[in-house]
Amino acid sequence: MTSTFQPSPKEGTLRKRSTNIKLSPNLSTSKNASPSSSSSSSSYSRIKNDNKRTTQDIGTNIDKQCDSKVLYEFGGPVGVSLIMLLSPLLMSYFYFCLKLKQGQLQNPFSKDFWMNGMTTIIPNQRAMFIYLGFNLFQLFTAAIMPGIKVLGLPVPSLGGKRLEYLCNGLATWYIDLIIVSILHQLGWFSITSIVDEIGPIMSVAILTGIVVTIVTYTIGCTTGNTHRMSGSFLYDLFMGAMLNPRIGNVDMKMWSEIRIPWKILFFISLSAAVKDHELNVARDLLNGTDQENWSIFGGLLKFHTCRTSAPLLFMTLAHFLYVNACMKGEECIPTTWDMFYEKWGFMLIFWNFTGVPFSYCYSTLYLLNRSMAGNPVRHSKVYNTSLFVILVLAYYVWDTSNSQKNRFRMQQRGTFVKRNAFPQLPWGTITNPTYIETKHGNKLLTGGWWGLARKINYTSDIIMALSWGFITGFDSFIPYFYAFFLSAVLIHRVGRDNRRCKAKYGADFDEYCRQVPYIFVPYII
Ligand code: NDP
Repeated sequence: MTSTFQPSPKEGTLRKRSTNIKLSPNLSTSKNASPSSSSSSSSYSRIKNDNKRTTQDIGTNIDKQCDSKVLYEFGGPVGVSLIMLLSPLLMSYFYFCLKLKQGQLQNPFSKDFWMNGMTTIIPNQRAMFIYLGFNLFQLFTAAIMPGIKVLGLPVPSLGGKRLEYLCNGLATWYIDLIIVSILHQLGWFSITSIVDEIGPIMSVAILTGIVVTIVTYTIGCTTGNTHRMSGSFLYDLFMGAMLNPRIGNVDMKMWSEIRIPWKILFFISLSAAVKDHELNVARDLLNGTDQENWSIFGGLLKFHTCRTSAPLLFMTLAHFLYVNACMKGEECIPTTWDMFYEKWGFMLIFWNFTGVPFSYCYSTLYLLNRSMAGNPVRHSKVYNTSLFVILVLAYYVWDTSNSQKNRFRMQQRGTFVKRNAFPQLPWGTITNPTYIETKHGNKLLTGGWWGLARKINYTSDIIMALSWGFITGFDSFIPYFYAFFLSAVLIHRVGRDNRRCKAKYGADFDEYCRQVPYIFVPYII
């Protein structure tokens, strides 16, 4: 069944234009009740309310079943054990190749290679100060900064209770940018320290990811705050024990997903861009080709013409767009699958504390290492410009497709909040979208980008990831690792999501797939 709705801009709640009431079988005789007379009007609204309750009950029961069912995913206990073992090893291997061999893949069984590599990642005090200091500062600002409060979905294991999430990511993001700029300008903390210490910082992050996983699991088990446990220690360690761990008003799952990985990733790229600038200025000075400095406010603020290479500027922009999108759309996160269903285990903890920031930055590190070795990556203006255009276009589709769906869902649930966080892109909210009503009660959007392909947000993400590789040229595989990895994760996620949606929406999901037959690329796949 397809209907349309017009969101009320004031209330941000759902207002149907054409009402299409589904009746449960025992009410079907009242189908033609007219809302015109007062008695029939009250019976009409009773039928409507009964019908709403029935739909809600169906939805709640389905949600309960999906939420409590233990499924072995990722290859079960064996698969997740391998992932937990191999993740830190693979990250170290790629880092060693970048650091020691300019991105050329090495024999992974060479003892000398590993011994040499290990010397570049030994944790030190400075690395601990940077990484742990940053995370603690994020925890502090998450607890105290102002932000909007958004309700999550009803949590079946809490009897349908909806948890409140303080979305102050944007305020904390601006504070981060201001503080980092001031510290750098005053010379108290040079932003380049991040790439100078990147190896030791990465190993501190690996250790932190492992320690937080074990501590969280232990706290969950010893306090009895566990959910959907499989009984296999390794599988539960990977998937997590607790569903919604919190410290005060900070939801650890959302905090670690939004505040840690993307911000660190951006600061790594910013650090590399500044380092590259400083290296090039130093080279210019040596060659006698230094560009002029300029200043404003009578010399109070001094600037130097930017000497960062185009590829490193590209990576800084790419990571800025990503982190900014996460902050400006944070209010959409509380109703996502990760918040509603996933537990806080190795998969989310290690990935957010360690995997995302220190493996999604390979392109940046590759470009910087090449520049430091005096062999910078250079492309023609046409090549660089084309990639900038592709990045911005893909970002546009990614940002607006995610926001179209998330806002649609929030409007349905009455949690929609209109925000003016920068940048608000055209077509980020669709008026009058078409959708499919389901027996579960939720609606599936079939308008906007979502009428073209069911996972167009994944496609645009993968295109951005590929552009991060292409900007490094074609001499090393490692900068392309992210694109391959993300594609594998998202393709796996499509299968996972299909199974879940099929279980949740049944025949309505089949109808949705019939109406929107393409997954990634309209009219092709
Ligand atoms: P989706 O945004 O596709 O969310 C899937 C859920 O959205 C479904 O389970 C369903 O939830 C709901 N949904 C799906 N289709 C519709 C529709 N047509 N109308 C209404 N609701 C719908 O996936 P993710 O949450 O996995 O990804 C979000 C973004 O994050 C993507 O852009 C992805 O690329 C990115 N991402 C990036 C990663 C990275 O490491 N860089 C990793 C993972 C994701 P419900 O049951 O509530 O209806």
